[in-house]
Amino acid sequence: MSRRVPAVTVIGGGVIGLAIAWRLARRDVRVTLLERHTPGAGASGAAAGMLSPLKEAGEPGPFLDLGLRSLARYPEFVREIEACAEMEVGYRRDGRLDVAFGADAADGLRRQKELQETVGYTGRLLVPAELRRLEPGLAEDARLGLATEHDHQIDNERLVRALWLAAEREGVDIRSGAGAAGVETDGPGGPVTGVRLDSGEAAATETVVVAAGAWAGALDLPRPLPVRPVRGQIVVLRLVPPALQRVTWGPGCYLVPRADGRLLVGATVEEAGFVVATTAEATRRLLECAIRVVPALAGAEIQGFQVGLRPATPDGLPVIGADPATPGLHFATGHFRNGVLLAPETAELVAAEILDGQAPDPAFTPARFG
Ligand SMILES: Cc1cc2nc3c(=O)[nH]c(=O)nc-3n(C[C@H](O)[C@H](O)[C@H](O)COP(=O)(O)OP(=O)(O)OC[C@H]3O[C@@H](n4cnc5c(N)ncnc54)[C@H](O)[C@@H]3O)c2cc1C
Repeated sequence: MSRRVPAVTVIGGGVIGLAIAWRLARRDVRVTLLERHTPGAGASGAAAGMLSPLKEAGEPGPFLDLGLRSLARYPEFVREIEACAEMEVGYRRDGRLDVAFGADAADGLRRQKELQETVGYTGRLLVPAELRRLEPGLAEDARLGLATEHDHQIDNERLVRALWLAAEREGVDIRSGAGAAGVETDGPGGPVTGVRLDSGEAAATETVVVAAGAWAGALDLPRPLPVRPVRGQIVVLRLVPPALQRVTWGPGCYLVPRADGRLLVGATVEEAGFVVATTAEATRRLLECAIRVVPALAGAEIQGFQVGLRPATPDGLPVIGADPATPGLHFATGHFRNGVLLAPETAELVAAEILDGQAPDPAFTPARFG
């Protein structure tokens, strides 16, 4: 049974806030989305767009389950978004290849294969000759490969543009340039009454979703969140003909081929506060790794750089769900390295909690932060 929801305000126009706003609007909710800059200006526009639940989770548990459920939602999510926005979002199901050069890394691939099998994924271990048949551009001393068909990728920049368009078409009021300073309540422990903007203005609302990514911890909230920024840098290359067909992980970098001929080489994981900058050292390390994996990339053109701040939490898990202490306050942040993957499932969970009263897995509750 649906509850009465007069209107929802979403703070943040990254892939998470946009997906939630769009999903709520599809269920006839009146949604306002506040975005300090423009949608996609944060991590969502800078990401690599890999959809790899097992690569990041490392072990069975609620986080892996969340990633697997979100990946399973992707085909339908893409179909709906592309139809609504009338544009393609570069969704590809070419799978992923991991490449090991040393004995330890090769053992790591065997362990990864075992973890994959626990969730019913099949992976193929490939000896050097098989590796180069699959990807002829790989370095000759690559020792072992692990190929899985289950991981997908999406062009995250196109996805953000499509979600923005689709959300507007569903009636979401997207306010670019409108930063939120904090959430107001009817006294301590009282329900949400509004959002205070950077301009000092107050906007009345009974339901707020905090989806401000790495900046969620900087908002003035009844429950401050320990979300911090973790910087990621990517170097964008181009080589004709393309160097690789599928997402490939090497020792210290990944390579993501896009349909338009770009090759993304990522990514650093740096504690650098809120400084969004491309550095010489990171560029050097990423390029060294890329050339180690595919030697022909030494001749590739550098097309540009991407840099963004991932929203990280102390326990590495996202924060998804209602604040039990403040009626009307919901969170959807802390997705760290997986926000693009987790957007469809996060949007479903938040909509189901606001509209149907179904709480997400308690592993993700904001209440775990006291
Ligand atoms: C280099 C790199 C590579 C990555 N690769 C992948 C990948 O391959 N796969 C994957 O799944 N994930 C990847 N990620 C992680 C992914 O990008 C993030 O988890 C995801 O984008 C988080 O989305 P978000 O909407 O929470 O945050 P963001 O995209 O950062 O959006 C937050 C938005 O909120 C706005 N905002 C902030 N404060 C306020 C305020 N007070 N008022 C109004 N608006 C505000 C910001 O301007 C921003 O637009 C990568 C990240 C990086 C940096």
